[in-house]
Amino acid sequence: MIERTATEHSTALDKGEYTSQELVKSYLDRAKKCASLEMFNDLDESRIIEAAKASDKRRKTGNVLSALDGIPVAIKDNICDVDEKTTCSSNFLKDYRSPYDATVIEKLKAAGAILYGRTNLDEFAMGSSTENSAFRTTRNPFDPERVPGGSSGGSAASVGSLSAPLALGSDTGGSIRQPASFCGIVGMKPTYGKVSRYGLVAFASSLDQIGPMALSVQDAALLLSTIEGKDGRDSTSHPFADKHPTSPKVKPMAGKELKGKKVGVLFPDSKSEGFDQSVLKACTDMRNWLEKQGCEVVEVESKLWQYVIPIYYILATAEASSNLSRFDGIRYGTRSQQSNLQDLYVRSRTEGFGPEVKRRILLGTFVLSSGYFDAYYNSAQKARRMVRAEYLQFFKNLDFIVQPTSPTTAFKIGERAENPIAMYQSDLMTISVNLGGVPALSLPLGTDGDGLPVGMQITAPHFEEDKLFSFSAAVEKDFSLDRSAMVSRSY
Ligand code: GLN
Repeated sequence: MIERTATEHSTALDKGEYTSQELVKSYLDRAKKCASLEMFNDLDESRIIEAAKASDKRRKTGNVLSALDGIPVAIKDNICDVDEKTTCSSNFLKDYRSPYDATVIEKLKAAGAILYGRTNLDEFAMGSSTENSAFRTTRNPFDPERVPGGSSGGSAASVGSLSAPLALGSDTGGSIRQPASFCGIVGMKPTYGKVSRYGLVAFASSLDQIGPMALSVQDAALLLSTIEGKDGRDSTSHPFADKHPTSPKVKPMAGKELKGKKVGVLFPDSKSEGFDQSVLKACTDMRNWLEKQGCEVVEVESKLWQYVIPIYYILATAEASSNLSRFDGIRYGTRSQQSNLQDLYVRSRTEGFGPEVKRRILLGTFVLSSGYFDAYYNSAQKARRMVRAEYLQFFKNLDFIVQPTSPTTAFKIGERAENPIAMYQSDLMTISVNLGGVPALSLPLGTDGDGLPVGMQITAPHFEEDKLFSFSAAVEKDFSLDRSAMVSRSY
């Protein structure tokens, strides 16, 4: 059962092949077999089974709420749900309960989806390996010695290990796509403004988006269509989110539709440093595939390529330092017992935040400080507009841009933990997408010699999610990952 996609489960539930209770039980069993992968901060079995019971009842009386009714969706632990703790994998929030639901959670509840566990992440979504979690190190289902990617590593590993059919992640600089690529699944970052950020604990608000993680492109579209939409409670959510709703049913492009599509490729060449052989090979396979479909392959060159990591790490840290100032020991989370207010602030923050979060706050405070604001923050804002302008320019005569999701496959746990610069390099291919605000999807494109999945990233113009899904589904047809071996693995 667990090998099936959410869309297949939906049909099976409709036909009465099995009940939602049977479905969630098989995923809970699977999650137990995969317990040592450390994917969940919390997985409340009885609540999940209760929710499945309620769904089965609705189905019996003909009151099915949506195609997702009765289907489990794992939730990254930085998205607020009143019924659960929202910890952001931080000691600061280890017992925090949100007084309200995030808009995406409201929508999933209204759709009858089963909210299935809280997945581990890098503390406050800052990282690329999930090693920055204050609670646990999540492991990659393809090789438990390796990281699942990050920051949505728990979500990616839960879907990749077949412990959940769907998950939500959040993506500020690649946190959905890079772990999706490391765990052999589909991960999608919507256009900025497509999905409400209300109830997503803010990291860098001008870049953050919530998005779907799934076993198939079809499932990702189904989940996105459920959570998207303009929301008055998020001033950056965009009216286009309603005007161009994502179709829950994907029609893979074929034949004439594919022929003549102009596809820009941003592929490394053999001289590019830091790229795995397997990633270069995936690029060759992708190029051959595009040519075979009759697509027009256009070499793209980004003039801003070498600047995107510095631009991102200035803007994201600046916004983080400002967003995280609300964690003062008074309003949220852990409070250090101190006799005066100043010490209370300082000690609460010192004890509550982990080292990477502190590094980001320091960097962000520095680039915003007087005397440096113009040189760093303002320059980075200007450069970011240039990245966006470059995308608009590219998409004047391109339908899609294709590039690897990450320069490498999943790396070993501990390998980059001591070297933040090497860690930040993992984000090279994903960051510009957030800076540009465009939608992008990562899907598996083969494996390396060790059986680790390689991910390919496809980017489309703003609000062209439907086309992105249709095109990606065509690619997926010819490259889908064989998961049969995964079912019998336990950890
Ligand atoms: N790895 C990037 C960072 O650490 C992106 C994180 C994210 O997308 N949340 O900032």
